Amino acid sequence: MKNREIAKLFEKMADMLEFKGENVFKINAYRKAARVIGDLSQDIDKLNREGTLRDIPGVGEGIAKKIKEYLETGQISKYEGVRKGVPDDLLAMMTIPGMGPKTVALVHKTLGISSIAELEEAVEKGRLRDLPGMGVKKEENILRGIALLRQSGERIALGVAIPILDEIVAEFKRRAKVQKILPAGSLRRMKETIGDIDILVTGHDGRKIIKAFTELPQVQEILAAGDTKGSIIVPGGLQIDLRVVPRASYGAALQYFTGSKAHNIHLREIAKTKGMKISEYGIFRGDRKIGGRKEEEIYTELGLAWIPPEMREDRGEIALAAQGKLPRLVEEKDIRGDLHVHSNWSDGSATIEQIALAARKRGYQYVAICDHSQSLKFAGGLSERRLLEQMEEIRRLNEKFSGIVVLAGTEVDIKTDGSLDYPDKLLEKLDVVVASIHSGFKQPEEKITARLLSALDNPHVDIIAHPTGRLISSRPPYLVSLEEVFAKAAETGTALEINAYYDRLDLNDTHCKRAAEMGAKLSIGTDAHHTDQLWMMRLGVAVARRGWLEKADLLNTWSVQRFRRFLSGH
Ligand SMILES: [Zn+2]
Ligand SMILES: [Zn+2]
Repeated sequence: MKNREIAKLFEKMADMLEFKGENVFKINAYRKAARVIGDLSQDIDKLNREGTLRDIPGVGEGIAKKIKEYLETGQISKYEGVRKGVPDDLLAMMTIPGMGPKTVALVHKTLGISSIAELEEAVEKGRLRDLPGMGVKKEENILRGIALLRQSGERIALGVAIPILDEIVAEFKRRAKVQKILPAGSLRRMKETIGDIDILVTGHDGRKIIKAFTELPQVQEILAAGDTKGSIIVPGGLQIDLRVVPRASYGAALQYFTGSKAHNIHLREIAKTKGMKISEYGIFRGDRKIGGRKEEEIYTELGLAWIPPEMREDRGEIALAAQGKLPRLVEEKDIRGDLHVHSNWSDGSATIEQIALAARKRGYQYVAICDHSQSLKFAGGLSERRLLEQMEEIRRLNEKFSGIVVLAGTEVDIKTDGSLDYPDKLLEKLDVVVASIHSGFKQPEEKITARLLSALDNPHVDIIAHPTGRLISSRPPYLVSLEEVFAKAAETGTALEINAYYDRLDLNDTHCKRAAEMGAKLSIGTDAHHTDQLWMMRLGVAVARRGWLEKADLLNTWSVQRFRRFLSGH
């Protein structure tokens, strides 16, 4: 699918126009188109062939023409034109989280800064703080943004990589005779961002297998094609390596290539103390191979229980495995409901009925409709009257359906002064109240923490959504004392969300681990805006597993009866 490439182009286009100080409406039109196309579940190429591009919300005649041009020629002439006047280094500066094209234009024009290195130097010398709209806080934010950018490098979000990989593996299996096939590396560990993907397979004819791999329709570029290893680039710039390994060492290779590096170094140290050696070929005592066919053998020979890949970060899991005390991690099949879904009543695209049917099809017992609240006008927030109407609609649907309970909920905004966007007497009527912050991200730590604490103190609030507000691709977390938030959540019995939306994953793995240790309950919500996004529950479960969570830690593994008791009792 070319959707993501086109969305990125439009986003860049908007950045450059904004940098040049052009018409705001034009800029917003490109941003909106980028967002809609990025979220689109249908293949944009297919829509173009069917002549239905204009049916996409936010795609007018001009945008549709440009999409068509890109699909047919591989470029957009208007983009190339606008692009010409903006040096690469300035474009790179615009990708710094918290920076944006307007600020880049400002520092470029007034201070002559034209690269990230120059910007960093200027910030450190305090040269930015006196510019209009700047200040010490803003300087700090820019430094953090630079750090975040460097850290993310060329990595891509897990939730972007998984659908690409699934499609490729399915197509590859149709074309090649392989017995075992598993991705290794950070993808198997379900890290929130991943670099290259390593796939390990076993099979008889290595050369044939690699040939089938490099001939996949998704291949954009072949980097290597040998007898045991092939390497390709697929859309999105993702590199995928395929290794054909002998059956007798498949387990050892899988263990080796899964990592993490720190985990494997620790294992090798243990092996050494026992007079053993481990490598991608097996586990050895002296020259004698004592295991490697199955991954479990590596761990067993070292006197350890097999460790789930999501835990392999050398954060204490090896000691637990030695004592036989590993947690029993939650699994996707334990999930009984999704606790954060938007419908077309606010900025989602599915009807409540469609959501209910899709949730039932996934085997859920319940699904919570949590549309935005009134002050979030840009996201179609519901007035009090509309929310009451929606509750009525949900009541009617529940009478009609069997096998799924639709819970009437809201994602009520925690306003900048800490108050909630609906009165208590309305919140009281809802089944589920999810509260979250969507504005005032730049407030000082005490202020944001206080907003969250006061929401936690409200007896009607059941869950705090995306507690840190970060976006993996573009926004660092706001400043907040999570320790205070976790302690308060444990005290009030309010749950903290693991938002499973691919760009959020908020709380992240280490935070949800800490929250559970402090006695807080957690819940997973996809924040899906259409039914095609309900699959992201898988990402939320991965975060929970990386945070060592068990079934009992998560509200939405509970039966609908137990969940209702929680809602009325906490
Ligand atoms: Zn939200
Ligand atoms: Zn939401």
